[in-house]
Amino acid sequence: MKIICIGRNYTDHIKELSNEKPTDPVVFLKPDTSILLKGQPFFIPEFSQDVHHEVEILVRINRIGKHIQTKFAHKYYNEIGLGIDFTARDLQAKLKAKGLPWEKAKGFDGAAVIGKWLPKESLPHVDELNFSLTKNGKTVQSGSSRLMLWKVDELIAYVSQFFTLKIGDILFTGTPAGVGPVALNDNLVGTLEGKELFSIKVK
Ligand code: ZN
Repeated sequence: MKIICIGRNYTDHIKELSNEKPTDPVVFLKPDTSILLKGQPFFIPEFSQDVHHEVEILVRINRIGKHIQTKFAHKYYNEIGLGIDFTARDLQAKLKAKGLPWEKAKGFDGAAVIGKWLPKESLPHVDELNFSLTKNGKTVQSGSSRLMLWKVDELIAYVSQFFTLKIGDILFTGTPAGVGPVALNDNLVGTLEGKELFSIKVK
């Protein structure tokens, strides 16, 4: 399986990182080894002093497809979840400055938190989902898929022009404002439409 991630999909997060608003979605991949195993703590990697949480809505692909049209994209997933795209911001900044790929800053072991999945039917429409992340009980990020620059179905159509989507592939749809560093012993809890989908400890 592969993990396809979208960057800069919310204007407020683009502003906070002083990034340019893209004309096309920013796309990158994480390897399957980046998935944080269920029940495991997240270990801050030695190569970074500034690992940030990015809470994101996730979609799990359940049909093979390529060149999917936006109007049919909804047929390619029936589960929605929530996760964290952990990012070594210091390393990413260095790589970005040199125009180099981000993989080391985004694809390291444990960098993809994938929470519980919910059936699409049990939730409001995919473009009207509220979600949040708390750190040690305090809300640090909250967002709504209403504010996405590219909606989930548009993202599926876009990425499927480049990559064949296969059953089990996961799409990370970008983070809203409020990204920030994690520290030893932090507890991160992700909630989608009032349902807690993950709770992880930072070590
Ligand atoms: Zn992200």
